[in-house]
Parts: sequence; C-alpha cells; structure tokens
Amino acid sequence: MNVAVLLAGGSGKRMGGSEPKQFIQVAGRTILEHSIRAFSQHPKIDEIVIVSHPDFIDRSSDIARPYPKVRHIVPGGKERYDSSLAAIGIYRGCDGASAINLLIHDCVRCLVSQRIIGDCIAALEHFQAVDVAIPATDTICEVDAEGNIVRIPPRSSLRNVQTPQGFRLDTIDRAYNIGLQDPDFVTTDDCGVVHRYLPDVQIRVVAGEPTNIKITYPEDLILAEKMLQANF
Ligand code: C5P
Repeated sequence: MNVAVLLAGGSGKRMGGSEPKQFIQVAGRTILEHSIRAFSQHPKIDEIVIVSHPDFIDRSSDIARPYPKVRHIVPGGKERYDSSLAAIGIYRGCDGASAINLLIHDCVRCLVSQRIIGDCIAALEHFQAVDVAIPATDTICEVDAEGNIVRIPPRSSLRNVQTPQGFRLDTIDRAYNIGLQDPDFVTTDDCGVVHRYLPDVQIRVVAGEPTNIKITYPEDLILAEKMLQANF
C-alpha cells in the first residue's frame, strides 16, 4: 500500500500574512488542495494523510472533503519531523504494516508531477528509502558562524533535495527510533534521519524537476501561478 503524507503543519512565517501558506489560493485553489489533487490523481496512491497545523484542522478537512483518498487528518507538531512522526504513528503496528510505503511530501510543493510520484513508488520496489533531487545549478559554499567560507564542495556532486521522500514504513520508523535517542538530534528532512541513523540503508535518488518548487517566499507564488496555469 502506498500512502502519501502531506505535511501541512507549518506556520509559513517566511511568507508573511495571517494564515499558513498552504491556505493561500493559487490558480483558483489552495496550495493544499493542489497537492491533494496531485496525489489523488496517481493510480498507485492508495490513501492520503494530511498532517495539519493544529489550529487549522477544520480548514484542512473542508478542503479535503471532495477527495476520498484522504483517510486521516492529524495534528502536526512543533518541528517538521514531529509532523512526519505524527503520520508514521498512524501506521506503526497496524495490519499489513510491513507492506506499507510512505511518500512524505511538503504540501507546499504543489507542482509535484505524476512522473515524480510514479518514479518514487517504482524505486521503493527495490530500495528502502528514496529521495528526489535535481542537480545544483548554484555553486554551494559552507560557512562558519562568522560568515567565512570553510568549504566549497564540487558542484557536480551536489543536488538540491526536493520531496516526496519515500520509505518503507519499518525503515523510517526504525531510523526515527534510533535518532530520537540522540541528545543532539536535529534534522530538516526525513532522508537525513535514515542517512544518519541507518547508514547501511542505501537511499536511491530519483530525478526531481525544477518546477517542483517549495513555495516559501511571496515571489514563489507568482511563479507557481504561472506554472499551474500553463498546466505544468
Ligand atoms: O518549514 P519548511 O519549509 O521545512 O516546511 C516544509 C513543509 O513541512 C511545509 O509543507 C510545512 O507545512 C511542513 N511543516 C510541518 N510541520 C512543521 C513545520 C513544517 O508539517 N512543524
């Protein structure tokens, strides 16, 4: 069974405005609805979980009502990984848990394509963890606390990570179980947890797309609007 987990638990502070960015309308629908539609349309997605900001569960439910694949709407947590854990907790120990794949997705990447979703599901037939990424076009440098460059890794080996990130349920659950015992645990994505705490697990990278943007800043809305209108 393939489950899409739409992370919509953030408050979207970088966007400004009074409500989280997932409720902003773009090309006639909220960002959350565009993401629900993308995963609903994929024939290999069996069900969808929405991890909502706790203050906006009713709003998320209203948006999800026309989409029968949405089976659970649960409150998210303080950090992104708390929201991922809320979804993992729904399926942990349930019947058939060993055959469940989770595709954990930033709901603000509402331009995700059917091709990316399909490639992640196909890769999970052979790999326990799958990431989506595109080659870095900017040179990326690492800086110290004072703002001095400490490292410039060769660009040819760098990728910009997107979502969805796909996992066999037991793999991501095991990675978090180990990670949460670490007093220095910190992460910005789910593949990072597998990479750090289950180093023997190979994480396959599936090709992302430049259009699979994470709507973060107001100017991203202009781009998203244009691309959705052009039916990317
Ligand atoms: O803040 P960031 O850009 O990492 O957010 C990526 C996605 O994770 C967004 O869709 C946001 O709603 C979600 N998120 C969440 N719970 C949090 C923080 C972010 O579900 N506590």
